[in-house]
Amino acid sequence: MNKSIIGNWQVGSQTKVVGLFGYPVKHSASPAMHNAAFRACGLDYVYAAFEVNPERLGDALSGLAPLGIRGVNLTIPHKESALRFMNQLSEEAAGIGAVNTVVVDSDGLKGYNTDMRGFLKSLSEEAGFTPRGRKVLMIGAGGAARAVSFGLAMSGISELIVVNKPFEMAEGLVSVLGEKFPELKTKALAFDAGSVTEEISSSSLLINATPLGMNGEIPISDSGCLHSELTVYDLVYIPFCTPLLTEAEKRGAKAIGGLSMLVYQGAASFELWTGIKPPVSVMKRAAEESVRKRCT
Ligand code: NAP
Repeated sequence: MNKSIIGNWQVGSQTKVVGLFGYPVKHSASPAMHNAAFRACGLDYVYAAFEVNPERLGDALSGLAPLGIRGVNLTIPHKESALRFMNQLSEEAAGIGAVNTVVVDSDGLKGYNTDMRGFLKSLSEEAGFTPRGRKVLMIGAGGAARAVSFGLAMSGISELIVVNKPFEMAEGLVSVLGEKFPELKTKALAFDAGSVTEEISSSSLLINATPLGMNGEIPISDSGCLHSELTVYDLVYIPFCTPLLTEAEKRGAKAIGGLSMLVYQGAASFELWTGIKPPVSVMKRAAEESVRKRCT
């Protein structure tokens, strides 16, 4: 069999291909994470990153089946726009309104959302946090925020406050959640509203679902509201420790970064493509290594 040798790992004519569509994709940790797991499991799969211009997303997705590609992950900016190209949607992807994993089979393209499961698993495994009956404040109302808030609502939180810079986006998300989960108490707040810090003081969980923190910024105006009964979850994973997490730790709060969500959402995608539970510790090590290289 014709094979190219990559270290002690071989890619050949029977190798199944999966990958990532994003724009840009060059800094993604997903190829390192998935390829490490394929190697550890002895699976003849390879994961590649494809930089897909948003205007060509439909073309790229329609090429998956004819090329025999098993599936792809989708990242910014494709998660919402991919919805209309799917032949089927999982209940989670339909509810959230975003797809981050595509599986190709004889019925065409099926869209899933593993961000939600990845977040919930990470919240329980890393933070030991039980959502039922808790008050949560979430900053951000984009694709990741939608997945996270649906997961929390399904897990029985009692109250959710959504804070976003364009207030209408926070209002929009709150209204969708209110329709789907009528028992959930919800409120939208503007990013600069004075009451944000007050609401954090009485919350059990604070989530940053914006990219703020990647460039040293902090998404709250006064860190004094962070307290020792609070769990602070930052979806950002580059860097590992954002200014928000540093401030949270200083005030005795439990501080969790986004790397384990990345790993658990990847593990769920891996299982959808291969039917095999991957070694999460191998994926985590590879993701950490990839992020560390990027940060140095
Ligand atoms: P997105 O759809 O573009 O949403 C970004 C959100 O952040 C929006 O609410 C946006 O508000 C807000 N935002 C952006 N820049 C801001 C600024 N300067 N000030 C205040 N708010 C700002 O992106 P996403 O897919 O939800 O991702 C959000 C973050 O989560 C990214 O950093 C991403 O890397 C991370 N993420 C992590 C994981 C993981 O596995 N750990 C998974 C998914 C995403 P407006 O657009 O309304 O202004």
